[in-house]
Amino acid sequence: MTAQNGVTNGNHHSSPKVSFTEFTQYIDGAAVDTKATRCGINPATKQNLWPVPVSTSDHLDRAVEAATKAFKTWSRKPYEERQRSVLAFADAVEEYKEELTNLLTTEQGKPTWQAALEAGAGIDWIRGMAKLSVPEDVVEETDTKKTVVRYTPIGVVGAIIPWNFPLMLCTAKIAPALLTGNVVICKPSPFAPYCGLKLCEIAQRFFLPGVVQSISGGDDVGPWMTSHPGIGKISFTGSSPTGKLVMQSCAKTLKRVVLELGGNDPAIVCGDVDIEKVAPKIATFAFLNSGQICLNMKRIYVHESIYQEFLTAMARHVKTMTMGNGLDSGIVLGPLQNKMQYDRVARFFDDIPKENWKAVTGGKMKDSNGYFIEPTIIDNPPDNSRIVMEEPFGPIVPALPWKTEDEVVRRANDTRMGLGASIWSRDLERADRLARQMEAGSVWINSHFDLSPLAPFGGHKESGIGTEWGINGLKAMCNVQSIFYNKSLDEV
Ligand code: NAD
Repeated sequence: MTAQNGVTNGNHHSSPKVSFTEFTQYIDGAAVDTKATRCGINPATKQNLWPVPVSTSDHLDRAVEAATKAFKTWSRKPYEERQRSVLAFADAVEEYKEELTNLLTTEQGKPTWQAALEAGAGIDWIRGMAKLSVPEDVVEETDTKKTVVRYTPIGVVGAIIPWNFPLMLCTAKIAPALLTGNVVICKPSPFAPYCGLKLCEIAQRFFLPGVVQSISGGDDVGPWMTSHPGIGKISFTGSSPTGKLVMQSCAKTLKRVVLELGGNDPAIVCGDVDIEKVAPKIATFAFLNSGQICLNMKRIYVHESIYQEFLTAMARHVKTMTMGNGLDSGIVLGPLQNKMQYDRVARFFDDIPKENWKAVTGGKMKDSNGYFIEPTIIDNPPDNSRIVMEEPFGPIVPALPWKTEDEVVRRANDTRMGLGASIWSRDLERADRLARQMEAGSVWINSHFDLSPLAPFGGHKESGIGTEWGINGLKAMCNVQSIFYNKSLDEV
């Protein structure tokens, strides 16, 4: 494999052939294979996919050294030049959108139409964030004094990516890091490494060696990154338990961290909704990506006046969701992404008979060629049950009746998570009143999931620290510097 680097002006005239059956990591602008390799697994078939490198800590040291060198040049480029290169990268990703979409389905399991949405969002997030900048603020000025606040890049950013959105969460970390003048080392999840590695390979054409690098390997690469003294910031997306380990490890070198972690999103459905319209939407938001989205609805609170009817309508819709290999047409639900997650979700199914939970759809695990689990709604389990308190990260969700606003607000907030929440009602005033009481980073009225590269995204409580995207996300990639000018030496 040959590296194609050195095009630094952002002009992209022809698309060199990119192989979608060979994958490697890029360090200092060159493809770097390793003696040891490992393979991801297609979760729809349990077949091994292509080999990827297994790095040693020496590979990371080399990447950090190259990044540190590249930072000196990249950070000094004018914003417009960085923006041009980043936008040219977005165009190239778009050229390979179809290949990336199929690759994403193959490694992650989600149906191709959902993979195409993720690929589209990955591109939109690069372009959206390239519209933003963080100019200097003059915060006060008199005849004699001026105070300016500026945002300076931190240096080497380590981007640690999970397996559920391996494409979009990669571009959505690369773009803000580079726009603000940082350089980035991307570490995809060992469970789903392919899209991330390919994106970093495509990026080589637009950036100097060392500006965008990838590192591939097993479970030890993340801890090497969080403890590496040459990395200045970790942008981490993953589970809350891992996020705590990341923060602990980053504390030793006082690295900057943004943690985007798990969720246990409540949806509060009021008694005035059109059941036939809203129930299918709620079921969709609960089971999209087979429940493996941080922002899936994980607790569905329905007003008692419509609870039974709503539950029946949701169950009816769930039965229409076709499950299968995401590469086939007409599929709505793919498999769980990996065996670890499949086994973890299986434990919730083991609890159904043990805890006397009532499953209105699904409810049983079946053997198959892939990691498939039927979507399951649990009818009114106790508030303190595991299925209500924890994030299963799979296609099993509790439905719970509620009576009064105060009660449902208390129950919805009674969690250590605080990622998203949604309120469903025709009465917008009431919905707004409830929305403003939610302890969550993103709150939706009559929707769930609407996100924007222009709006900050992050969790309250144990769902995370800091935000990504929007102006806040760009600022999170920066150090803050205040400069105090005294205009005349005579005044000093
Ligand atoms: P995970 O925490 O197991 O892994 C995430 C990444 O961290 C992977 O790249 C993994 O290799 C790496 N990692 C593992 N141990 C590490 C360590 N000790 N130090 C540093 N890195 C380490 O998460 P996952 O299972 O890949 O993803 C699912 C979780 O991610 C769910 O809880 C989900 O809610 C959450 N998630 C959150 C968001 C968000 O934006 N808030 C988005 C997607 C997923």
